Amino acid sequence: MKINTSYSESIKQIREKNLPSREHSRRIIHWEEKHRIKSEVVKALVFILPTRGCSWALSGSGGCSVCGYLYDNPQKPDFEMIMISIKDILNKKIQQEEEYSIKIFTSGSFLDRNEVPINVQEAILKELAKYHQIREIVLESRPEYINDKILQNIVNNIDISKIEIAIGLESANNKILKNSVNKGFFWEDFEQATERIIKFGAKVKAYLLFKPPFVTEYDSINDIFLSVSKIKKLGIDTVSINAISIHRGTYLSLLFEKNQYRPPWLWSLVYICKEIKAKFPEIRLICDVVAGGTRRGAHNCGECDKAILEQLKEFTLTQDLKALNHNIQCSCKEEWKGYVLHEKIS
Ligand code: SF4
Ligand SMILES: [Zn+2]
Repeated sequence: MKINTSYSESIKQIREKNLPSREHSRRIIHWEEKHRIKSEVVKALVFILPTRGCSWALSGSGGCSVCGYLYDNPQKPDFEMIMISIKDILNKKIQQEEEYSIKIFTSGSFLDRNEVPINVQEAILKELAKYHQIREIVLESRPEYINDKILQNIVNNIDISKIEIAIGLESANNKILKNSVNKGFFWEDFEQATERIIKFGAKVKAYLLFKPPFVTEYDSINDIFLSVSKIKKLGIDTVSINAISIHRGTYLSLLFEKNQYRPPWLWSLVYICKEIKAKFPEIRLICDVVAGGTRRGAHNCGECDKAILEQLKEFTLTQDLKALNHNIQCSCKEEWKGYVLHEKIS
């Protein structure tokens, strides 16, 4: 069994209670940001497509215990409008002289036909293939949708070597996947999907979740180290460390509201990035902290948060350890050490 039935049932109940308050916005959200590809920094154009949302979250499993993305997805997506908007945005934003990374996110799985119909997947890929300025395209998917047929479909429509498929593995530890995240798949499923993607010539990015529920800060730090070592052995060279930000309407949010969960410390993220980069310098390590410095996101004492978040941002962009070595001093560093040890013991 890849799920813990009673845990999954509790998650489902919370989901069902919150689903009626779901958003109905059907507009594509998009923005530009800086992004690193190999040794260069290029422009990234990020799209969030208003699909119906993640099938796992919509299923009887209740979805992941930490995820509230579903509440932002519309119930009835309009794919005609989505295609018109994508064409229009690409046409307006892509400049002749620049190079781009395009990130197509759906708050679910782009490769899930029930979420993004196959003809829409094809149309989007064909549209992107028209732009020689696009160097990299990032798509997100759970492993169960990554089969030979869907990968062949990518090959038929675009140069697959430009494609990076990002998978929310969260942890390489099956116990955490089952009893903490309610992920519904195991390490072995990720492993198989990765082998397939690499066989077809695309790249893989792994997302790891820092400090999921019921895992202490100390254990989660160690879990990230172990997970990265396993991921590296599969030939993956891009890892994104996603520190928890607490989404409303989730199991984790309930723990937080009962004072049974503290979001991770930024000091831990600095420590993790330093250790991993020193051990695996060839890994492109991404640490974009969502809601950093807020109560529901990774935070320190409030005094030093901004400076540390800037360091992490600079490190993600430059991949240079020097970015993390500006000696920021704050009294909360001792508090962090005490907290990590105390939480471990208690
Ligand atoms: S984290 Fe990903 S797989 Fe899990 S419910 Fe959210 S969108 Fe779905
Ligand atoms: Zn501080």
